[in-house]
Amino acid sequence: MINKPTKPVDPERGIIVGVTGGIASGKSTVSRLLAEKGAFTINLDEIGHELLKRGSPVMDELLEAFGPDILDASGDVSRKKLGAIVFADNAAREQLNAIMHPPIVQRSQSEAHRLVADDADCVVVIDIPLLIEGGRHHLVDVIVVVTTSPENQLQRLLERSIEESRPLSVEEAQARISAQIPLSEKEKFAHFVIDNNGAFEELSRQVDQLWIEFRRLKTL
Ligand code: ADP
Repeated sequence: MINKPTKPVDPERGIIVGVTGGIASGKSTVSRLLAEKGAFTINLDEIGHELLKRGSPVMDELLEAFGPDILDASGDVSRKKLGAIVFADNAAREQLNAIMHPPIVQRSQSEAHRLVADDADCVVVIDIPLLIEGGRHHLVDVIVVVTTSPENQLQRLLERSIEESRPLSVEEAQARISAQIPLSEKEKFAHFVIDNNGAFEELSRQVDQLWIEFRRLKTL
C-alpha cells in the first residue's frame, strides 16, 4: 500500500474517506471491509437508486433528456435502459452525470457531515467512482484509490456481471472500462493506493493497515 501525507484532520469531528478507482477495481469490497472494521459507509448507488424512483426530483430532468423509453413497466426509471443508452454514447453519459451527480453528491455530503459531527472518532467511507473526474476530491479528507491491472479489471467485471445475472459481453465490459480515466491518473490524487491484484486475503491485509492509518490520523 502506498501512503502519502494527508491534510491535517480536525480533531473535533470524524474523518471522511473517499474510496475510488475504476469499475470493478474493488471499491465496494474495500468499503465493505472497512465497514467490518467499524466505519460508517455511504453508498452512492443506493442514493442513485432512490433518485430514479417515481416522483423523485430528477425524474423530470431525465425524461426531458432521454425521453419516456427510459421508464420500466412500473414507471420508475430503468437503470438497464439508461445504461444501454449512456455506455454507447459519451455525450449522453455526460448529460446523465450532469443530472445525477449534483443531487447524489449533495445527499452524500450532508449525510457524511451529519455523521462526522455526531461522532468525532468515526470514519465515514464513501465509495465514489467519479470522485476525481468530477473534481470533487476536496470534499473528502482522505482519498483511497483501489487499483488493479486492466486484465483483472476486465475479468472481475465480467464475472461480477454474470453473478448479478446481467452478463456483459467482452465488448460491453471493455467499453465501460475505456470510458473511465486511467487508474494511473487517479493514483496521483491518492493519499493511499491499494493494490488489488492479489487474493482477497492480501486485500484484507491492506485494509487492516489502512484502518491503523486512519486511527493514527486521529491521534496525531
Ligand atoms: P467496484 O466496487 O470497484 O466496482 P467490486 O468491489 O465490486 O468493484 O469488485 C469487483 C468484483 O471483483 C466483485 O465481484 C468482487 O467480488 C471481485 N473482487 C474484488 N477483489 C477481488 C480479489 N482480490 N480477488 C478476486 N476477486 C475480487
